[in-house]
Amino acid sequence: MKATIISVGTELLFGQTTDTNSVYLSRQLQLLGIDVMYHHTVGDNAARFRRILELSYDDCDLVVTTGGLGPTQDDLTKETVAEALGDALAPDPASLASIEAFFARIGREMTDNNRKQALLPSKADIFPNREGTAPGFALETGGRAAVCLPGPPREMTAMFERSARPWLAGRAEGIIYHRTLRTFGIGESALEAALEDLISAQTDPTLATYAKEGECSLRIASKRADAAEAQRAVAEMQGAVMDRIGRYVYSDSDEELAQVVAGRLIERGLSISSAESCTGGMFAAALTDIPGISAVFDRGIVAYSDRAKTEELGVPRETIERHGAVSRETALAMARGLKALTGSRVAVSVTGIAGPEGATDEKPVGLAHMACVFDDRERCEEIRTRNVSRVWNRRYAVLHMLSMLLREISD
Ligand code: AMP
Ligand code: MG
Repeated sequence: MKATIISVGTELLFGQTTDTNSVYLSRQLQLLGIDVMYHHTVGDNAARFRRILELSYDDCDLVVTTGGLGPTQDDLTKETVAEALGDALAPDPASLASIEAFFARIGREMTDNNRKQALLPSKADIFPNREGTAPGFALETGGRAAVCLPGPPREMTAMFERSARPWLAGRAEGIIYHRTLRTFGIGESALEAALEDLISAQTDPTLATYAKEGECSLRIASKRADAAEAQRAVAEMQGAVMDRIGRYVYSDSDEELAQVVAGRLIERGLSISSAESCTGGMFAAALTDIPGISAVFDRGIVAYSDRAKTEELGVPRETIERHGAVSRETALAMARGLKALTGSRVAVSVTGIAGPEGATDEKPVGLAHMACVFDDRERCEEIRTRNVSRVWNRRYAVLHMLSMLLREISD
């Protein structure tokens, strides 16, 4: 199957919004064995959109669009695509009911515009939108197929995964099997470099990397006539990948780091407490996001000021004066104090400079020290982030704490 991706929206032409949807869709279609021949971006203009659609069907069988499905005047995707495929819009009762339910849930008045969102091409397979109100759809007539998805990336990716991918996979030849390996502690470019020859020689299985807020995923996919054959090919490639970067991989089934850590703690019945300075409770929040963690998580203390570190955790005032609040010694004293206070088998701590202020010559913004005391084993680690922003520094520190913890409780 040959495909064109069309991004619809004047804001994209003005440079107000970066077109991340096409990048995502290209990668996803490639993994389905669909060849992407073109990317187009068009404003909210029916005539130009129509022209690009006609051009696309000259040598592609599939068009995937994002954007322009909303309730306002300038949202033209449904009409234009239906027309190009010889269909017309009709009210879809199920979509109307779910749009009504959405407004009832958020307690807001529904407008006629919103009702317009339930008008869909009469021959389409409708894709519900659980993250927003605009439904998407797939339509196929006379050798032309179209998959139309919403513009907001969160809605688009959720709809792609839930509805569009299965729809497309049913049409692509062969059977796709895939696995997503999640890594921490290696950047996307280093990951690509380590796997360069595998990536450039790939035909099947395919390998693709994705960077996401300090983490990197690697998707291995194979398309074969037979499911068992595809699984075997993926397993073999996974083996080759693990030989090279195995120590960075924390999941081969696309789980979050916090989820893997929580799972391991629960499985081993290890009680845990945390003491946080620069992350202000974000570590405790990440862990307590995971259902079932109450079996092992005792408490999280936010000890932000020097006084709190001394009063809550018994960090000697002298340690802070001598080495500073952001130091290996203070981090370790925090974890030791926490362990003495709680009796948890695992006590973790973090102290760092989140920025943008607070740096000194020896201590840059993005520096953080963390400690983990597990029974009588003590470990300290230091990180220096790329210092993208305060938010980033704090998030990265949490990921690193989780990763350190995972290493400590895994052997
Ligand atoms: P729309 O569905 O056209 O109303 O788009 C809603 C919002 O989604 C836009 O205001 C953008 O912020 C975002 N958006 C639309 N198209 C894209 C795209 N190709 N890449 C990233 N974001 C987009
Ligand atoms: Mg728009």
